[in-house]
Amino acid sequence: MKTVDLVVPCYNEEEGLEHFVLETNKVIASIPGYSFRYILVNDGSKDKTYLVIKKLAGQFDNIKYISFSRNFGKEAAMYAGLEHSSADYVVVMDADLQHPPQIFPKMLEAMEQGYDCCATKRDEREGESFFRGAFSKLFFKLSNKLTDVKNPYGAMDYRMMTRQMVNSVLELSEVQRFSKGIFSWVGFNTKWVSFKTVDRELGTTKWKFSSLFKYAIDGITCFSVAPLRFTAVMGAIIFVISLIYILITLIQTLFFGITTPGYVTTLCAVLFLGGLTEMSIGILGEYIGKIYMETKERPIYITKFSNFAEENNQEKEN
Ligand code: UDP
Ligand code: MG
Repeated sequence: MKTVDLVVPCYNEEEGLEHFVLETNKVIASIPGYSFRYILVNDGSKDKTYLVIKKLAGQFDNIKYISFSRNFGKEAAMYAGLEHSSADYVVVMDADLQHPPQIFPKMLEAMEQGYDCCATKRDEREGESFFRGAFSKLFFKLSNKLTDVKNPYGAMDYRMMTRQMVNSVLELSEVQRFSKGIFSWVGFNTKWVSFKTVDRELGTTKWKFSSLFKYAIDGITCFSVAPLRFTAVMGAIIFVISLIYILITLIQTLFFGITTPGYVTTLCAVLFLGGLTEMSIGILGEYIGKIYMETKERPIYITKFSNFAEENNQEKEN
């Protein structure tokens, strides 16, 4: 019998987690020939998520969990889950049923056809504001152009992967993780399936627009140095333009003498160059910051409790 691990990052999901497991169990029960196991990763939730997980793990013996010492973010939670997985196929999915387990059979079918990965993309972005939609479209276009990462518009983390692909994903052990990029970067054959997005039933989304913006910047800077090259090219262009301008001014001065001082020209030049320099330093800083964080080689997450190693963690809890 083939095995499937379901990696589920959970952050403040006390309201919906049980519902998620019960709903997913229904789907699992209808798929013969595969044995499913949950790997619930409690990402330092501030509510009672951990207690819910413990309760569920007591109820169902195919529930494994890892609980972090604090909130490390969804990327870290996914990594931890993948690291602990051992099944033939591994699924990464959210705990809020926005990633419907109902498409497991479709995913398994693709895997049996020989695909290494069956990933999902949303085809409709209902409930998304115009601004947000335009922003994410721009992001997908830009990152596909600038990086080795090729994702279709609306690509999501929700996917099923082979053991081999998961092992490759784990080899990219950088601390600043951008999974959508990593999943694409490792290559392998991916089948894309789409489904209509549904609204979160219980709990609230943990994303703000500011974090989406950070996500977009990371998506590009983690996989490409194109922005650095952009600043260099801009610098070169401005250098050439200013050489021409200096030449013209020199000739003018030599032949016609000093004309009226150009207040506007000076102001424009100072502001333009100042802005450009600031921006370039910012882009540079973005990369230096990443280098700095990576050189520390800190762990991606820290486990507080887990039922993977049953021996030493159960008794200390309270
Ligand atoms: N999540 C997490 N750590 C975080 C934020 C979110 O593990 O710091 C989990 C969350 O519990 C959920 C998934 O990541 O299972 C996606 O979160 P959410 O539904 O808030 O994001 P959205 O669906 O709005 O993209
Ligand atoms: Mg969600």
